[in-house]
Amino acid sequence: MSDSKPFVLAKGGRGGWGNQHFATPTRQVPRFAKPGLEGEVREVILELKLLADVGLVGFPNVGKSTLLSVVSKAHPKIANYHFTTLYPNLGVVYVTEGVSFVMADIPGIIEGASEGAGLGHDFLRHIDRCRLLVHLVDVSGSEGRDPVADFEAICAELSEYSPELAERPQIVVANKTDLLPEGSSLLEELRDYVTELGYDFYEMSAATHQGTTELVKAIAGKLAELPPIRTFEADYVAPEPVIDTSEELEIEECDGVWYVEGPWLKKLVATINFTDYESRMYFDRTLREASVFDRMEALGVQDGDAVSMYGLEFEYQS
Ligand code: GDP
Ligand code: MG
Repeated sequence: MSDSKPFVLAKGGRGGWGNQHFATPTRQVPRFAKPGLEGEVREVILELKLLADVGLVGFPNVGKSTLLSVVSKAHPKIANYHFTTLYPNLGVVYVTEGVSFVMADIPGIIEGASEGAGLGHDFLRHIDRCRLLVHLVDVSGSEGRDPVADFEAICAELSEYSPELAERPQIVVANKTDLLPEGSSLLEELRDYVTELGYDFYEMSAATHQGTTELVKAIAGKLAELPPIRTFEADYVAPEPVIDTSEELEIEECDGVWYVEGPWLKKLVATINFTDYESRMYFDRTLREASVFDRMEALGVQDGDAVSMYGLEFEYQS
């Protein structure tokens, strides 16, 4: 499905005769349906994608949660150790009368997260839909870090995970300016580096609220220019065809080749896409459930024997 129109995931039954038809003093709830009335049964995996306009990215401890708590009513956990935020937090940021946006605090993108290391990977999915990334960098050089290298590491992480995501508009924010050592050039180095690359650059101290209002205004201004959020694209997988396998197949061995034939098998072979794993599994399962392999075994088929089913040739493996 590529649009946001509702669609039927699984059809309901044709409707029964009503409860009064089945209910007896002891059986109040019908636990069966008249054959042919059953609805479709499907296994589905639903993934909740958070809807945020802005995704905060950056190394652990750069101040993402602090910023969110300062500019919104969200109360994310804030602490001075890595992986403090275990769930993506959402906050509504009110800018002025009638203007607001949703900001998501995406925890712990760390190096290697796009390959599944650490917790970051799980959360990267949640920024898929953000229109704007706000990239926080700890500019204070605490823990001996180099802001430019940190910025680059997160960008590399994003492109590794999704080149499309890395192309998303980004505002770079130097945080913890209050901790900048006297005479430090780290802020200037980062500013020069990212403005050279064409990013909008802001500086703040989330802890002391210095520069946070300016940042909120800049974010709102940028969002006003950006196209609306992309709609979610779900993959619709067509249900497997229902094939009546009750009719017995003909199994014949001739010159070391086992020929298997029958109307439903012909139909089945025609519907299977043998380059698709799921489809092949369905083929295998259908034959297995119809006891085709059991019957072949009883007739003496051996591992390695050739099998032919309507042009489909394979070696028998029990
Ligand atoms: P996150 O992991 O990116 O969400 O970082 P947190 O918001 O949890 O912040 C990590 C630590 O840095 C906390 O102890 C915060 O109080 C502290 N912190 C955040 N922003 C600032 C800031 O601007 N200045 C100072 N001095 N500390 C900050
Ligand atoms: Mg956090």
